Amino acid sequence: MPDQKIVTRFAPSPTGHFHLGGVRSALYNYLFAKQNKGTYILRSEDTDKERSKKEYEDGFLDLFEWLGLKPDQFFRQSERTEIYKKYLEKMIADGSAYVSKEEIKEAGQRSEVIRFKNPNKKIVFNDIVLGDIEFDTTDLKDFIIARSLTEPLYHFTVVVDDFEMAVTHVIRGQEHIANTPRQILIQEAIGAPRPLYAHMPLILGKDKSKLSKRDPEVIPALEYRDLGYLPEAIINFMALIGWNPGGEQEVFTLEELIEKFNLHKIQKSGGVFNSEKLDWLNKEHMKRLPPAEIEKNILEWLPAEMKNPKLVPLVLERISKWGDVKDMIERGELDLFFKSPTIDKAKLIYKNIAPEKIISNLKLAIKALEDLTEENFTTEIIKNTLILIANNLGSRGELLHPVRYALSGLDKSPDPFIIASIIGKNETLSRLQKAI
Ligand code: GLU
Repeated sequence: MPDQKIVTRFAPSPTGHFHLGGVRSALYNYLFAKQNKGTYILRSEDTDKERSKKEYEDGFLDLFEWLGLKPDQFFRQSERTEIYKKYLEKMIADGSAYVSKEEIKEAGQRSEVIRFKNPNKKIVFNDIVLGDIEFDTTDLKDFIIARSLTEPLYHFTVVVDDFEMAVTHVIRGQEHIANTPRQILIQEAIGAPRPLYAHMPLILGKDKSKLSKRDPEVIPALEYRDLGYLPEAIINFMALIGWNPGGEQEVFTLEELIEKFNLHKIQKSGGVFNSEKLDWLNKEHMKRLPPAEIEKNILEWLPAEMKNPKLVPLVLERISKWGDVKDMIERGELDLFFKSPTIDKAKLIYKNIAPEKIISNLKLAIKALEDLTEENFTTEIIKNTLILIANNLGSRGELLHPVRYALSGLDKSPDPFIIASIIGKNETLSRLQKAI
């Protein structure tokens, strides 16, 4: 079928918070459809009335909107009951399904369900990732496909929908392999063509064990947005768990992924979720943003009294996601820019330099900086000015150390030129004076 239009679908059930693992499934379906000029369908599988919740569906809809993975079509299974009913009636009429009376043990009552008439045969399917997979379906018995004509169950609705929506490729997690033979049996019964299957490897924790609920990575996917990760980084990171294009490049845009993705190169074994790599990729994507956008985001995360654009380069250097700004503030790392530090006299001394010498060096610094106009009070010019004086002393440290300490009051801090330019001329001179 060389001219057949490629149709993929991602079919989450809104029965719980959506995790990043699902983002990878959605993404591979999206990438494959887009690179083939095909159709990518998002389908909310909400037939389980008790467990499906609107808030969970809203959650993944918001998430995909944020990630920019826009589906070409969206369906909700709960709105398709009539379609499923038609197929159930047809199957019952042709004998491929039948109504069976079930005993409800405790009350001794009977209720009805619809069972599939299992032809008990061998099914072989070729999985794009895993190769040939063979199943004897006899063990599956006559499995239940609906509780009633208006209450169809998962295996059945998936098959009907994939058929009705002309899905050509079912790309989903390996946990669905065991479901595939049942679904193939139903396809054969309703005369649906078999789609191609690609079952993706599991996502593993750092120690290569299966991710468990206790792992920090297993937080609702939307929380990554709230922590200040970039959508392009999440996409880049998830794309590379279980597939990679080879070569040195690690940072990819969505456009590049669409071009490079290869469904036939998905690996068989589990892919590791490495949070440090996510942070690294996030930083790489942050650095590629237009400067105005970086500034806007960092300022947004700073509290009102700290919204100083001069802080942006310094903050950017120290974060890997916007939310880290909050941590910097909590750790007090920005306090020195907003309040004059308390000075411990002894810490002003550099090595064995006499206090008088330190005082005279600080005076030299004040004198030189006083001569700079407000306009020239930039990191570069302050640096050149102070280095020029420092070079004429026995060692640069006997000037730069006391200046840095006088400005920050900290054993470790950004360099004094940056601090001075951020706090401005008046505050710089006043801190130096106070130290003297
Ligand atoms: N609704 C199923 C789930 O949430 C997925 C169905 C499928 O991809 O075939 O796991």
